[in-house]
Amino acid sequence: MARQFAVIGLGRFGYHVAQTLTQHRCEVMAIDNDEEKIQSVADLVTHAVQLDATDEKALRAIGVQDVDAAIVSIGENIEASILIVMTLKEMGVREIIAKAVTPIHGKILRNLGVSRVVFPEREVAIRLANGLVAPSILEYLDISPDYSIVEIPATERLVGKPLTEGRFQSQYGATVIAIRRKVPYITEAGESEFSEEMRISPSPDEAIEEGDIFVLLGPKKRLEQLQTS
Ligand code: ATP
Repeated sequence: MARQFAVIGLGRFGYHVAQTLTQHRCEVMAIDNDEEKIQSVADLVTHAVQLDATDEKALRAIGVQDVDAAIVSIGENIEASILIVMTLKEMGVREIIAKAVTPIHGKILRNLGVSRVVFPEREVAIRLANGLVAPSILEYLDISPDYSIVEIPATERLVGKPLTEGRFQSQYGATVIAIRRKVPYITEAGESEFSEEMRISPSPDEAIEEGDIFVLLGPKKRLEQLQTS
């Protein structure tokens, strides 16, 4: 069965969350008290409902208590964001992810027991700046104040050699948690295409192939120095 989500608050952030979840074939209940916002997503999501999300009865009537996760995406009106999170908690919603706009807003949401607080602007800015400082890093994800996951492409020098030649552990204290590899195949029309294979926990002897992308987990400070050569 498709996973079910409620997206509450359809500003830019909420809109894109609802759109992307729908593209991943999830069932999405998009909720906002502004009729125009509801109309803008009506053709996109499974259900678009205009209601005041601080109203528990109204949320129950559409079954929000049964969703796998609710995303509360309200920044401007911090009071509404807090009240809605409290209501969802009282209703027993399994997982609540909430957007915060200030550190205090984030702290309150955490204290209310949400599973995850996101600061969209801060997170995008950090990823952008990290990418600019270390251009060989394709993806960057902070998983704690000290650790991050990065993706870097294999360099020519490493092709055909075992994974240990990358010296990620000895030089950067990082573990290769996966390799993303392009695998060629022939389509029904006889054309050659590539599909992507994820090799999770690869063996140290794994031979590196051209186009491989390493997914590394390690200490942030040392990974930031990582430049493939
Ligand atoms: P972004 O920066 O992502 O565009 P934002 O953080 O500025 O958005 P807000 O303007 O705070 O977003 O509002 C998000 C949406 O939440 C708005 O569309 C607003 O109508 C809706 N909203 C606010 N309060 C409630 C409520 N009590 N019930 C339902 N929807 C609400």
